[in-house]
Parts: sequence; C-alpha cells; structure tokens
Amino acid sequence: MQGPNPAETAKYKEIKAPREDEYRDVAWAIPKYGEKFEPIWINRGNVRDDDVKFEMLYNGICHTDCHIGLNHLHGTTYPCVPGHELLGKVVEVGKNVTKFAIGDHVGVGCMVGSCLECAHCLAGDEQYCMKGTIMSYNGDRKYNLVGGDQDLQTFGGYSASHVVHQHFVVKIPEGLALDKAAPILCAGITMYDPLRNWGATSGKKMTIGIIGVGGLGTMGIKLSKALSWSRRRCHLHQCQQRGTCQREGCHPFLRVNQPRVHRCQ
Ligand SMILES: [Zn+2]
Ligand SMILES: [Zn+2]
Repeated sequence: MQGPNPAETAKYKEIKAPREDEYRDVAWAIPKYGEKFEPIWINRGNVRDDDVKFEMLYNGICHTDCHIGLNHLHGTTYPCVPGHELLGKVVEVGKNVTKFAIGDHVGVGCMVGSCLECAHCLAGDEQYCMKGTIMSYNGDRKYNLVGGDQDLQTFGGYSASHVVHQHFVVKIPEGLALDKAAPILCAGITMYDPLRNWGATSGKKMTIGIIGVGGLGTMGIKLSKALSWSRRRCHLHQCQQRGTCQREGCHPFLRVNQPRVHRCQ
C-alpha cells in the first residue's frame, strides 16, 4: 500500500516584510518541498519581557531535521528552517529575565513553548503538555510564548539568532565545549533521560544495553562510560558500527542479527 505523496501534503506559508514587532534574521531554509537548502530572510519577534535573545554559535544536526525537511511525516510547512539543538550567546534579555545575562552561553532543545498551566507543565514535564507543546521548528505559535506573526510556523536554529521564552532556555555550564554541548540538547537528553529513569545515575552497578549504535546510541555509550559502568553492552544493527563501540570503550557487544558476544578492548 502506498502512503500519501509528500509533494502533495507539503504546506506553504509566505514570509512577508517584518512587522513592527519583528526583526529580520538570516536562516538556512528548505524553501519548497524537494528543494535544497538556501539562505533566506525570516522574521522573528522582538524581545518581550520574558524573552532571551541569543546569537547562534552552534546548532546540532539531528536526523529529525531530515525527516521534517523532506516532509516524511506529512506535516511540514515550507519554508522550513530546521534545528533543535541550539547553542548561542545571549545578546539581549527582557525585563522579567533574571536567570540569564548578556554574554551567557545558553541552549534550547526541541521545544520553545507549552501551555505552562496543565498538570504536566506544572510538574515540570512540559514535553507532555496536555494542550500540546510548541516545537522549535515547524510548530504552531500559541500561548503567546513565541513572538511575531502568529500565523507563521516556528523557525529553528539554522539561523543567525533566536528569541525564546526564558522558561525554555537552559544555561550552558562554564567549561563545557560549546560545539560538543549542542548535540546534548536533543540526542544527549534523549539518552540521559532513560539512563536516569532506569537507575543508571543511582550509583548501583548494572549492565547497560544500547540497541542501535547511531548518533543517539553513541551518545548513550559515552554517557554510560561517564557514569563509569564496568559493563556496557551494545546491540548493533550492522557490524560496521563495531569500530564505534571499540573506540568508545563499549564491551562486550552483540550483533542483533547474529547474536554472538564479541569482546573488544
Ligand atoms: Zn533531535
Ligand atoms: Zn501544559
């Protein structure tokens, strides 16, 4: 059975001249379905009372960026500016912002907003917001949390700067290499959260198994190693990934399509 044609499900919106409450920002965008990246002008809302504006220094490339950019999920609005592992330096803050100051290094992950009122938001689980989150790109602007033209989709971090509500901004600790910090904001937290949830940060010895050693799996091995587990077990899809496991100090490993334990040092 054939699914819908992504060329037909792609949506389009026009970016007009910036309004009074917006500024122009340059971004790498896929202008239309099937086209390649090119630089375009987008508009972002000016800094409001709770906003943090930062210049972009690094932005991770996550595979989701490819899926959305290519309309694999049939929900992409073009022009599409991906990017949800944002890392930058603060250049302006609104008057209610006390946690961040100009010059601070900050990060933003896959979300730039949620209702902040439902039970999940109040419990600190904004990603489960019952009214829906605002994704960092290709999301709807709602709850008055993202400034500028509310009819436009959100634009991600493949751009020169960004303005994000302080609740969805994190401070990057001093001493952390900035280029390495960016991928923590999606791939890293995606691996760290289950490790913590299943007790890997509790101090108890355990064997950690990682199925699939791609971008996230490699991050999982590194995190497991940082938690100093004596045994890290990888389940590989392909034997080519054996080199990655060896390099990152994972042992033993199993191949899921050929389950035999290989020891590697
Ligand atoms: Zn991601
Ligand atoms: Zn909520």
